[in-house]
Order: sequence, then C-alpha cells, then structure tokens
Amino acid sequence: MSLRSLSLVFQRHISSKTPLFTNAFHNPTNAQYREQLPNQIPSPSPAKSHMVSTYNLTTSSPSNKMIRAYLKNGDLDSARQVFDKMTLKTIFTWNLMLTGYSKPGTLKQALQLFNQIPQPDVFSYNIMLACYFQNSEIDHAHLLFDKMPVRDSASWNTMISGLCQNGMMPKAHRIFSSMPNKNDIAWSAMISGYIQNGDLKSAVDLFNQMPEQDKGVFSSTAMVTGFMSFGEIELAQKLFDKMPDRNLVTWNSMVAGYVKNGRAEEGLKLFRVMVQMGVRPNPSTFSSVLLGCSDLSGLELGKQIHQLICKLPLNLHPTCGTSLLSMYSKCGDLENACQMFDKMCRRDVVTWNAMISGYAQHGLGEKAIGLFDEMRKGGKKPNWITFVGVLLACSHAGLVELGIQYFNSMEKDYEVEVKPDHYTCMVDLLGRAGLLSEAVELINKMPFKPHLAIFGTLLGACRIHKKLELAEFAAQKMLDLDPWSSAGYVQLANVYATMNRWDNVARIRRLMRDNKVVKTPGYSWIEVKSVVHEFRSGDRIHLQLDSIEKKLEELEKRMKLAGYVPDLNFALHDVEEERKELILSRHSEKLAIAFGLLSTPQGTQIRVFKNLRVCGDCHNATKFMSLVERREIIVRDTTRFHHFRDGICSCGDYW
Ligand code: ZN
Ligand code: ZN
Repeated sequence: MSLRSLSLVFQRHISSKTPLFTNAFHNPTNAQYREQLPNQIPSPSPAKSHMVSTYNLTTSSPSNKMIRAYLKNGDLDSARQVFDKMTLKTIFTWNLMLTGYSKPGTLKQALQLFNQIPQPDVFSYNIMLACYFQNSEIDHAHLLFDKMPVRDSASWNTMISGLCQNGMMPKAHRIFSSMPNKNDIAWSAMISGYIQNGDLKSAVDLFNQMPEQDKGVFSSTAMVTGFMSFGEIELAQKLFDKMPDRNLVTWNSMVAGYVKNGRAEEGLKLFRVMVQMGVRPNPSTFSSVLLGCSDLSGLELGKQIHQLICKLPLNLHPTCGTSLLSMYSKCGDLENACQMFDKMCRRDVVTWNAMISGYAQHGLGEKAIGLFDEMRKGGKKPNWITFVGVLLACSHAGLVELGIQYFNSMEKDYEVEVKPDHYTCMVDLLGRAGLLSEAVELINKMPFKPHLAIFGTLLGACRIHKKLELAEFAAQKMLDLDPWSSAGYVQLANVYATMNRWDNVARIRRLMRDNKVVKTPGYSWIEVKSVVHEFRSGDRIHLQLDSIEKKLEELEKRMKLAGYVPDLNFALHDVEEERKELILSRHSEKLAIAFGLLSTPQGTQIRVFKNLRVCGDCHNATKFMSLVERREIIVRDTTRFHHFRDGICSCGDYW
C-alpha cells in the first residue's frame, strides 16, 4: 500500500509557484472545461438540478436583490415583507417569491401566491409543479401539468423527476415516453430515477435505448453514478473511459464511487489524474478525497490535500472544513481536528457531530459532552448522529447516569428517533459499568430485532467482567445471526482463554474449522514519510525486520525492569510458556510501534492503526513503551483511539 507516488505529485503542485488550476480557467475554447466553471457546475443529482433553479433569476432591482438574499438565508418572512411593500412587481419578482415557498410545508402559501400572479408565465407553472412534488401532492401536480397552457422542456423534466423521486416509475416512464423532444436532462432524470429506486437493470436498458446523438454528459454521468452505487466499479470505469465529455459531477462520481466501495487508493489516484487534467475540484470532491485519506489512515497525504484546499482557497467552506476536521480526527491527529473546528466560523450540525464523536473516539468524553452543551446553547438542533457521539462519550467517560438521561430524553426533548445504534451505545455504557443484567433487559425491550453489533458489544462487556455464561449466550446469538462471521467465535475463545479454559478454546477452534470460518488475520499499519507500512502478526516480510526485532528485545528488557509482565493469556496459543511469550511479543501492533520508534525522531507522536481490537497484553505493553521511550503512542483499533502517555492510556483500560 504505497502512497508515495501519489503524494509526490501533490507535493510538486503545492510547491510550484504558478497557481495549480490556471489553465483550466483561462482556456475558454476548451469545451470540456467550460462546463466546469464554478457557476455552471450542475448539482450532483442532475434530476434535481433543473427542478427549481431558485437563485439564478435575473434580478436587477434592489428589492429583488433583497428578497433573493433573504431567501438564500432561509428567512422567508423578511423576504415576504419586502415583497409585500413593492408597488411594482415584475413577473421575475413573483417567480422569485414563489421559489421561496417551493419546499415542504409551505404549499398553502405557494398556492395563494401562485393564484395571485397577474400573468403567470411557464416558469411560474414549473415552480408550482415543483412545489407540489416537494409536498408529495402527486395528483395535484398531474392536474397542473395537464392544464398548463404551454410546456417547456423544464416542465417535462420537473414532472419526470418529481415522479421518480416519489418512486412512481411506471408513471414517470409514461410521461417520459410522451415527451416530444427528449433532452439529455430528461434521459438522465429517468436513469437516476431507476437507480434511486434500486432498479439498475431498467436504468441500463434505458441508457442503451438512448439515441447516439442524444447521449450527453448528464445521462452518462447518471449511469456512472448508478454503476458505482451498485458496486459495479469496472462498468463505471469502462463507461467513464468512453465518455467524450465529462463534467465535474462525472469526476466526483468516480472518485466518490471508488472511496465508497472501499477502494480509496484508486479513488485518490483518479483524483490525481483529475487535478493533472486541470479539472478544478469542488468541496464535494474534497469530501470524498479526504474520506479516502481517512480510510488509508494517510495523515501526511491528508495534510497535503489540506494545503491544496487552502490554495484554491476552499478552506473556509463548511464542507471542506468539516471533512478536514473529520480526516484529522480519524487519522489520530486530534490536535489539528480541534484547530479546524476552532477556525470554522460556519458550523453546521455535521461539523458539530464530527467534533463530538472525534472527542468521544479519542476518549475525551467530558470534552465531548461539554461541546454538546455548547451546541445546544447555541441553538443548534442535534440529530441522531449527535446522540451516537454523545452516548459513546458518556460510555467512554463512565458517565452512566448522564448517558441514561440523554438516551431517555432523545425522543421526548429533542424529537430525535432512537435507532439500533443508540441501543448498542447503551449496552456498551451499561456493560462497561458492570450493569450486565440491565444491558440484557434493554436488549429484550428493544423495538427492533437485535443485530450483530449489539451482541458483540455485550460479549465484549462479558469478557471484561468475566461473565462466562452470558458470554456464551451472546456468542450463540451472534452465530445465529451470522454463522460465517469469525468475530463471535474469536471473542468467545478470548473469554475462555482469559479464564484458562483451554479445552473450550480448542473446541471453538475445531468448530471454526468444521464450519469453514476463517479468522480475520490481525494486522497493523503505520504511515512514515507518506508511505504506509503494514505488519502482520509474526511478520517475516518487512525489510527492516532484523532491526525491529532487536528493538523489541531491547525494549522488553527495559519494560520488564519498569514492571511489565507479559500476560500470556492473550497468546491464545496453548503451547509452552516461553514460546507463548515470543508469539505474544510479535503481535502486529508491537511490530508497527517498534518500527515507528526506529524511524521517527525522538519525542514525536506515533500513530498506529489496527484492524482488530487491541489485545490486553499489547495494551499493557504499549503503556510501558510510552513510559520507557517517553513518547505519545496513539493506537486506533476497531472502535476507538487509545492515547498512551507516561504509562497511562486514555481509555482507562476499558475498551
Ligand atoms: Zn496483542
Ligand atoms: Zn487504551
């Protein structure tokens, strides 16, 4: 997993004196790029883009400008006041005001206004049509469409995409079939409609029926997006390669598609091509790219993207700011995440959520709760994701009572729907506090079918509190839900191992073999100088293995002097003691940390990532490593970050 080639290119771009994207903007003859000029960038969903293009109206008078500004800020009342005071209203003014009402919940006002327009034009009808769809008034939309004196292509497109968005595909197709001059947008609306309604086959069929001369960038992009959302990456790439014209949405769909399908490295490589071709990325591009950096734990790469964003400059854009914050937090750099948060002047609920869950995952429960209080005091409305962060924070900080309070107040005080994820957080919270029977009771009371994660969480709590019977019950439930998942078996074997029940460990092993369940191999990775180094348990591959082994031996001596005793229970291998110690000392995270100590300057932080839970011995050993080496070591495992400093871990030894 080498990111070097990718990062070098960015490095060069960043250090070059000439602005990166000059060519793209000063080359108006290039048809391909003309479409990518910022004001003409179509919205990611072509089906929606034309429905109500609210703010593109020609508004010359100061009053019109004021109305427009108020509407942009969502201040309908003030916009209406200006509107009512105007003595001379043009059709533009009427349409402008009408667009303000084209959202869910203001249909009545929209209709009143529409009926007052002295001479409504086709645009007024189109806005009204969109209003009906926004409020799911399909029949009324139909009636209006039927009695429209004139229809333009936007009327047809609004009708088609409105029906698609309401899941009425046969009706949409009937309208589409009767549309006189079908354009690219109409085709793309139909294709997107099928995709959004989960019907890839019909989308492909329709796309293939499209006459060659109609085949434009919108419908091809809709198809690329469709392939990606169904995980058909190769088909998406093939179509993308064939496209004569691509716009920003096309590129974004491809980059996002790779990242969402777990192929972040390829997504980032494509992003590099995009930049090289002079296509100017927008916040949506960066949100995918930074997500890709998080997936690869590529902090250095993320930092280079950050510089690129500053250069554009898009760093003040809320989406970019939040994506950067998230990237820093997920790559283990909480300090930079906090800095991003402090710098942002426009914070939406996503921003707050990212910072709250960032604190929670890094074990700073109290800070997360403090931030949540600040958010509420500032009048921001929390959503269900906020509460996942808050409950996680309570759990990590051991704030049982407070967690229960928040959980109970979600629906009552905040009108936030309780989801299975919240129950999982609660089981974690109760389990941590040793309230296992309460946790089981909560699972039994759940209004949903219990899912895999909730039993996994319960099993984790059983391991800590050594509750064998309940652990067996939770593991059985996990196996019932997913007989091929190794997690249940491995966790249960861990519980047996901690209690020296080796006969049972062996039984679980046999069971896994008989059921052909493959244990996910543990591996850890660390980024040094923009290169990701991966280590597997008992690794014999890495080039510097000799010096890593020497380092580990030397470390172990000093750690033992400081009081470290290897916990052989975690070896999970029923072999003689000395051998056990060796296997244990070669767990992948220990190799990665030793490599990190060797290849980074004294005193700097080390960040290691692991695909599984950190075992008890590695956790203990890392505490000692941080002590004897005087280094802050940050380890991210499946659920959280452990910050080891001066022999103590931020998780308080419960994870
Ligand atoms: Zn370990
Ligand atoms: Zn820890």
